[in-house]
Amino acid sequence: MKELVVKTSSQTEFVEITERVQRVVGESGVEGGVCMVFVPHTTAGITINENADPDVVSDMIYALDKAAPWKDSHYRHGEGNTAAHVKSSMIGHSAQVFVRDGKLQFGTWQGIFLCEFDGPRTRKVWVSILK
Ligand code: ZN
Repeated sequence: MKELVVKTSSQTEFVEITERVQRVVGESGVEGGVCMVFVPHTTAGITINENADPDVVSDMIYALDKAAPWKDSHYRHGEGNTAAHVKSSMIGHSAQVFVRDGKLQFGTWQGIFLCEFDGPRTRKVWVSILK
């Protein structure tokens, strides 16, 4: 397993990590299998979505904020970041991508994103390839 370190710069942000994950796959020398990408945090997520039009990411952030607003008088969690925990579980903590000929296999426009929901912070992403 390889660990990537991703520094985020705002409270809510999607950071594309496709190239960095591909580099891990390339350096592993594995030609075929499944690449697992996992974020070991409770206020961040991993997702695959469009990397061509940046409006897709901003619309996703908008929709997630609408579903889980930062402030809500019903929240009980004392740390004050309940919305980040909710979004983390909504998005999920991992993605799996097939590897063929040493390359991650994507559909058109797909990319892997680390989703920051309580930044800015330094996040870890674990990458492993199952042969
Ligand atoms: Zn918390």
